[in-house]
Amino acid sequence: MKKVLVSGIQSSGRIHIGNYFGAMRQNIVLSQSDEFDAHIFIADYHSMTSLTDAEARRKSSFDLACAYLACGLDSSSVTFFRQSDVPSHTELAWILNTVTPMPMLELAHSFKDKQARGLEANVGLFTYPVLMAADILMYNASVVPVGKDQIQHIEMTREIAGKFNRAYNTEAFTVPQEYVMTDVAIVPGTDGQKMSKSYGNVIPLFGTDEEIKRAVIGVVTDSSRPEDKKSPDSNNIYRIHKLFLNEEEDKALRARYEEGGLSYKEAKEALLASILTFIAPMREKYEYYQSNPAEVEAILEEGGKKARAKADEMMKRIRQVVGL
Ligand code: ATP
Ligand code: MG
Repeated sequence: MKKVLVSGIQSSGRIHIGNYFGAMRQNIVLSQSDEFDAHIFIADYHSMTSLTDAEARRKSSFDLACAYLACGLDSSSVTFFRQSDVPSHTELAWILNTVTPMPMLELAHSFKDKQARGLEANVGLFTYPVLMAADILMYNASVVPVGKDQIQHIEMTREIAGKFNRAYNTEAFTVPQEYVMTDVAIVPGTDGQKMSKSYGNVIPLFGTDEEIKRAVIGVVTDSSRPEDKKSPDSNNIYRIHKLFLNEEEDKALRARYEEGGLSYKEAKEALLASILTFIAPMREKYEYYQSNPAEVEAILEEGGKKARAKADEMMKRIRQVVGL
């Protein structure tokens, strides 16, 4: 039996290189393997916790679909859908809310981080891990590839699944294995903190040359002079740049930082060149999908139909288990 894989990405803003290296690239590779039955979705319900602009959400959802397809997602072997096309995710989230301990949610990084940034902490943001648990448990996923920023949410999903199974004396839910890509650390944003769609610190994956250039110029640096030796691992430009390099190129770049003599201006120009070269082929496909929205919509509708069939089956069982 294939292992069920589930992964979502919020339509809360522009896809950035952190999303690509932290999630999308691996998801695409895994979804091509016979070992996995992949479900990849656009988390538009989740995006409501940070975005209240309908047009922006619609555009972000569409752009995200184009981005995934441009990066190589094969919709014939993946259940690729919009979360809101399967409204029972929210019903399941409600059911899971009733077995989720509040103190556990109070410890969630996502909530604490956004709150610390002064973003309004609505109840949706607070219960975000419960909706995420519903996304995962709905399809009995055993594999959830996530970036390091999401490990805690997987742990919570396991906890919530266990609570539900014990409360209703059932084995309705599979407790998912945590699945983290070991080689991808959290990609820093232009301000040095975690790159996040909703933090305004991104390097967009499919921006124009000018937009990408502006973002790269904006990467925060310290005050060291060109001649100073620099430690690559604590340097934001390097930490982003290394994602685009093979081993040999990486070694050469590290040496340039360590030897001294590399100005930040030059380091940023080199980063920009690497990004533009890297994305060129994907960009062409992205533009194709952007100019063929009906094709993208048809792919999502088909995926939604497949996902709904599975979700309906699960909800029938869960409603019976809880007495609804
Ligand atoms: P938001 O600000 O709305 O939370 P986000 O940029 O954090 O958006 P998500 O939709 O929450 O993106 O996450 C999508 C996927 O991208 C997740 O698997 C997450 O682990 C991964 N991801 C997000 N940001 C990074 C990052 N900076 N580095 C590595 N992976 C990341
Ligand atoms: Mg996030």
